[in-house]
Amino acid sequence: RSEPVTVIGLGLMGQALAAAFLAAGHPTTVWNRSSGKAAELVAAGAVLAPSPDAAVRAGSLVVVCLSDAAAVHDVLGPHRDALAGRTLVNLTSGTSEEARELTALTTSYLDGAIMAVPEVIGRPEAFLLFSGEREAFDRHRAALQRLGTATYFGEDPGLAALYDVALLGLMWGTLNAFLHGAALLGSAKVDASAFAPFATRWVGSVTEFITAYAGQIDRGAYPPEDATVETHLATMKYLVRESAAAGIDTDWPARIQALAERALAAGHEGTSYASLIEVFRGRA
Ligand code: NDP
Repeated sequence: RSEPVTVIGLGLMGQALAAAFLAAGHPTTVWNRSSGKAAELVAAGAVLAPSPDAAVRAGSLVVVCLSDAAAVHDVLGPHRDALAGRTLVNLTSGTSEEARELTALTTSYLDGAIMAVPEVIGRPEAFLLFSGEREAFDRHRAALQRLGTATYFGEDPGLAALYDVALLGLMWGTLNAFLHGAALLGSAKVDASAFAPFATRWVGSVTEFITAYAGQIDRGAYPPEDATVETHLATMKYLVRESAAAGIDTDWPARIQALAERALAAGHEGTSYASLIEVFRGRA
């Protein structure tokens, strides 16, 4: 028999989480401040608890997904007694500091981050990051895998939140670069849809640079096996000039250029692009 789970918070994400547990056959209890949001889940077999306390007591695994950490404290803070002996999994986005503070709610705490939109939850493409009590992750792994592909990063409860923002930063950086490129090509009447296949193909190549540079960063040496920072900088200037000539915003390429210039000013001539890590570390 599948373990009984509780889902607290039935916003867009919480509803998807509860639906995935239900679909996988877990007895699922739910609670939400506005109870109306439970209607579809109840129709699908979930039990709507009358209070957060009753909801917590119904599950051995308690998943909470609210707007922010303050809401988690508001809703669960008064129910520490009910949480005792259960595992709390916080899937609310927040900082690593907030995650560490939430461990005060219970002895068995896992923090998680969801790298997926609600419609993907329950499929392997959804990937979820966890950190916190290892034993709790091992014990509840089967249930957590119902939500997507679950990865555990370590005992520090803040790690999942740190991975989350680092990965989101990667997403925004990539998307900004795509949008800037689409604006640049758009000035020459090229549709974004024509650019997109080349953009995705190039992002694929860039993933290989990531792997190579990760090795250099970890070894603390940046040999110019592919190209030097100076070679990159010369080409960056074309991106700035083309942007200005096209009359599109130059802020993004100018920042890219400024980062490379700072690396060179700090003495990283003749090194690979990975030496920019020193700029991001605040040492250049
Ligand atoms: P929603 O805005 O749809 O839902 C927010 C939920 O929080 C609702 O259940 C709301 O209750 C509840 N809530 C907020 N404040 C309080 C409070 N003080 N007391 C009680 N309940 C409260 O957001 P999502 O479901 O989309 O997101 C939830 C979390 O999941 C966020 O941290 C988000 O970053 C994260 N997430 C969301 C993703 C997405 O694609 N949606 C992707 C990855 C992570 P009520 O219904 O009563 O207002």
